[in-house]
Amino acid sequence: MSSRGPLMSSLAVVNGLVWPPRHRATAVAVMGDRILATGSDHDVRAQCGRHTRVIDARGGSILPAFNDAHVHFLMASRSLAELDLYGAETQGEVERRIDAYAASHSGPWVIGRGWFYSAFPGGTPAVELLDRLVPDRPAYLESFDAHTGWANTRALEISGAFSTGVLKEAAMRGVTRHIPARSRDEDLEALRAGMRVAAEHGIGSVQEAGEGQDELELWDALRDADELTLRVRLAFDMVPGLDSAAWKERLTLYDDLAHGRRNDAWIAAGILKAFADGVVESGTAALLDPYIGTAGRGEPQWAPDELAEAVKAADARGWQVQVHAIGDAAIRQALDAFAGATIELRHRIEHIEAPSPLDLPRFAELGVIASMQPQHAEPNRNLLEIWLPNLGAERAAFGWPWRSILHSGARLAFGTDWPVVPLDPAASLHVAVTRQTRAGKPAGGWLPDQRLKLAEAVAAWTFGGAYAEHAEDQKGTLADGMLADIAVLDGNIVATPTSELHALKVTATIVGGRVVYES
Ligand SMILES: [Zn+2]
Repeated sequence: MSSRGPLMSSLAVVNGLVWPPRHRATAVAVMGDRILATGSDHDVRAQCGRHTRVIDARGGSILPAFNDAHVHFLMASRSLAELDLYGAETQGEVERRIDAYAASHSGPWVIGRGWFYSAFPGGTPAVELLDRLVPDRPAYLESFDAHTGWANTRALEISGAFSTGVLKEAAMRGVTRHIPARSRDEDLEALRAGMRVAAEHGIGSVQEAGEGQDELELWDALRDADELTLRVRLAFDMVPGLDSAAWKERLTLYDDLAHGRRNDAWIAAGILKAFADGVVESGTAALLDPYIGTAGRGEPQWAPDELAEAVKAADARGWQVQVHAIGDAAIRQALDAFAGATIELRHRIEHIEAPSPLDLPRFAELGVIASMQPQHAEPNRNLLEIWLPNLGAERAAFGWPWRSILHSGARLAFGTDWPVVPLDPAASLHVAVTRQTRAGKPAGGWLPDQRLKLAEAVAAWTFGGAYAEHAEDQKGTLADGMLADIAVLDGNIVATPTSELHALKVTATIVGGRVVYES
């Protein structure tokens, strides 16, 4: 290569619409694992040599690769080989899928996930039903949100669990710890399959919301074998019930595990994950006032000052903290815990389904990132027939208020919570800007004031995710010197009617300058 000529790119994407559209660029040049330049096709082709690989975007969109700010990647990857009940709207459909799976799989257990509460009378499945469908072996099927388990009698007998067959929150462990453990090779194979799903959907980075301390070794093994096609940041678990000395001891252990990984571009650490409550559907989200039709308010997982104390200790040692908080009481407890914490650490609240309107301005005031998953707010039967009646119309009117939070000056980071909903950014963008199902229901959208502009939603899926993991100087935008993490979509995203956003397909995904998917 001439030392005087222009730098030659190793890879180029041309003939597209480079995000954001106001820059009017049509092409991106990549050298090694970094972006060399963006510009016109003409400019970028001038930096292409004989050895440059050129990808034709065919008039589609060239975006920063998506960054899913909240996933359960290992759990979801494992479930790819199991029974999938997601999207089954009726009990009949659930039964049909269980039947078909049990008939064609001979394993010692029937394991699966994804059922909607709304598929069953009263929002709860029955043990007798699962006994009838799977009489010969233990069966354990998790709800779509991973907060409720449905077991048959064989599974309950093995577990010695005394239960109606429906297990909420921590009670799920009573059965799950008896399910035969997956081998390390099975887990590695699962992660490879999960990475393929991510690549097919234009995802370059995921942020694993918990259990990261147990996954480091698996991800390291994939990196050592040069098999990584996805960047991951692993949250370590922060649990209630430890006294101050025990929590500090745990933090010391975490400090050791995270050593040298705070800024690792592929397998990063530096954040802790806590659950403040459960979910609205099963009555375990923590509310300020009772659920409709009962005296229960749900159970906070942490004692009143306990969460704040644990956050304080973690914050003092430089740990970012993310707290799952769905009910208004849990969201308030999390915000209270972050009051007085270090703003630069960018603490986060996850989900934010039913906040009190009084708390919305506090995200911006405290510098707390709102990490939300638009597909959770898809106005399907589960939302309209279970979630909404449990809260009542008055509280439901503030459901997933991402536009209010953004416009108050707070930061948004979007994701899926895979396997809770599919790992599909296009489906997520669709709900974020329409507040409708893909069938366009309800007309005008559910709580349409909370619809985002497309640019706001794309930002939350790219820059917002990077900001939420302290990496916005490395990824999340397509600019010279940034990591070459790029998603190419088949359509012009700006010209696509919002009702069709969910149908956009990824035609190529590039991570670290490497093409990891091409359709
Ligand atoms: Zn989650």
